[in-house]
Amino acid sequence: MSDDLAGAPVTVPGRTVVTGAAGFIGSHVAEALLGYGSQVLGIDSCLRDPDGVGRNLAPLERHDGFRLLRADLLDVTAEEFEGVDTVFHLAAQPGVRTSWGSRFGQYCDSNILATHRVMEAAAAAGVRRVVVSSSSSVYGRTDVAAFDESLAPSPMSPYGVTKLAGEQLALVHAMRPDATVSVIALRYFTVYGPRQRDDMAIGRMIRAALTGEPMTVFGDGRQQRDFTFVGDVVRANLLAMGADARTAVVNVGTGEIVTVLDLLDLVGEVTGRPVPVTFAPAEAGDVPFTRADVKEAERVIGYRSAVSLREGLQRQLEWMSATGGVPGAAQVRPSR
Ligand code: NAD
Repeated sequence: MSDDLAGAPVTVPGRTVVTGAAGFIGSHVAEALLGYGSQVLGIDSCLRDPDGVGRNLAPLERHDGFRLLRADLLDVTAEEFEGVDTVFHLAAQPGVRTSWGSRFGQYCDSNILATHRVMEAAAAAGVRRVVVSSSSSVYGRTDVAAFDESLAPSPMSPYGVTKLAGEQLALVHAMRPDATVSVIALRYFTVYGPRQRDDMAIGRMIRAALTGEPMTVFGDGRQQRDFTFVGDVVRANLLAMGADARTAVVNVGTGEIVTVLDLLDLVGEVTGRPVPVTFAPAEAGDVPFTRADVKEAERVIGYRSAVSLREGLQRQLEWMSATGGVPGAAQVRPSR
């Protein structure tokens, strides 16, 4: 990922913590910090995606500076954060559709209660900054041209509600009169790229194109999304670490949108094969539109996306081909 960090003039502290380090985005953030020479403690329960855990941790475990604590954040204490400058809090229970119903308790535990524990431990240990992963799902609105951070949040799924609660919880910890810890919350807009979770759309599209097995598109495909390459999200995390603010909430997206139907065509072009699809009704919690207004991100943390959707898709396809997770992928050469 180091090439994505060009232009990020950051000073990386000696000791950092990455929660969710075995996950999709957390593993990239940890890898970037290790590349800058930081000693990284990754904290992850490693339960959510057993297949992904080994794959995501392997590049981290090659670094002497990396240590993994397999633990639930509900049990985290100040001891884990002693001497740490910045905590990157990426652990969460993701996924909109599965947040309805009986699994909601896991969402509350991992997205709200765990964030409270992280903030308590960070404050007690004297951590300078916590960079919190939030989500565009806190907005929910559709009657604006782009979401800016001043919009009143109106999430449309239990997942969005828990992400909003977690973000706001972290901020109130930092706003206590006696607080020394500062918080920057980053609202990511649909993230994709190497190591993307198997349940997410772009990986499913590429897999469908390569295997010929149809994928299900929920809704009519006209829904619009702002897709953000994972390298841009890593850069936003590093910039947030050094930003001159006590508390802030900023969008991390591209400001560009594409419909799912146009994305299917683009994935078809990049893979050189059409994406076979079947359509199913939209599911509860699916929003018709997301688009980041990125002016605040540029002002507060100096962030701007750098990777186009086509380039990012090519990189995800290359990774899927190299890791051999998809039958036939090794034979596909991404079209440029
Ligand atoms: P992921 O599931 O790949 O990674 C999350 C990791 O957190 C997993 O490895 C999981 O084991 C760990 N975890 C969960 N609960 C835990 C707990 N209680 N204790 C310890 N570890 C725990 O998810 P991701 O896609 O990498 O998302 C990372 C962050 O970004 C999350 O906060 C997510 O809400 C946010 N986000 C992601 C996207 C996206 O498009 N992927 C978009 C918006 C926001």
